[in-house]
Amino acid sequence: MKISNGVKPLIVANWKCNPAKEKEAKRLFNSVKKTKAVICPPLIYLKSLAPYVGLGAQNCFWEKKGAFTGEVSPAMLKNIGCQYVIVGHSERRRYFNETDEVVNKKLKSVIEARMIPILCIGETQKQRDRGETENILKKQIEDALNDISKFKIQNSKLCIAYEPIWAIGTGKPCDPEEAQKMGLLIRKIISKIYNRTVAQKTPILYGGSVNSKNGASYIKEAGLQGLLVGGASLEAKEFVDLVRKIC
Ligand code: PEP
Repeated sequence: MKISNGVKPLIVANWKCNPAKEKEAKRLFNSVKKTKAVICPPLIYLKSLAPYVGLGAQNCFWEKKGAFTGEVSPAMLKNIGCQYVIVGHSERRRYFNETDEVVNKKLKSVIEARMIPILCIGETQKQRDRGETENILKKQIEDALNDISKFKIQNSKLCIAYEPIWAIGTGKPCDPEEAQKMGLLIRKIISKIYNRTVAQKTPILYGGSVNSKNGASYIKEAGLQGLLVGGASLEAKEFVDLVRKIC
């Protein structure tokens, strides 16, 4: 299937639970904002980095408001100038027991708030070794998109990040060739759920041990539409180099 071309690659920085101090966050932000990448800092720093076109949250809750101690809704994020939300990151699935059902609720709430969801999917090393990757990705996508209409998806600008868990933070990235295959598989799955047009228009990102040396290969060789960058997004020079080689 032909991949939609001509769209500027979407580079997303996932700072995870870093840095420890707001001052450091502002310093890092000031060094990387010229890249125009989507920056997803810890929740507590979002407001101090706004306004910035391309501010993202690493998570959200699915309700708008109410008695949900410790949670933050998409509307609250939007109100402070956030446009993107990462949904279903493997660290949230693993450490906070986020099921596909929870991911589906969060995705719906982000779409309803008219924010751009970055849906993360990916298999573990064990699942890969057992040859289960295709089924795992299919289930994660189908469950995440359950009960979300074609119309809503078309208007949502949904992005899907293929993030093999065995490649995240391990220094062992997925080969661009394999990432390309996974990108095509993801489009095939979306095409079956909706149609070819929706599949072609959905940006597919790669994430997992991306750095300034390998980043461009996922865009230029694998033909993917963007990157989700964890560790390397915390080093200003490394991240600026990475983006410069792509955009
Ligand atoms: C991530 O957190 O989504 C990620 C891809 O991390 P890293 O780049 O450190 O592997």
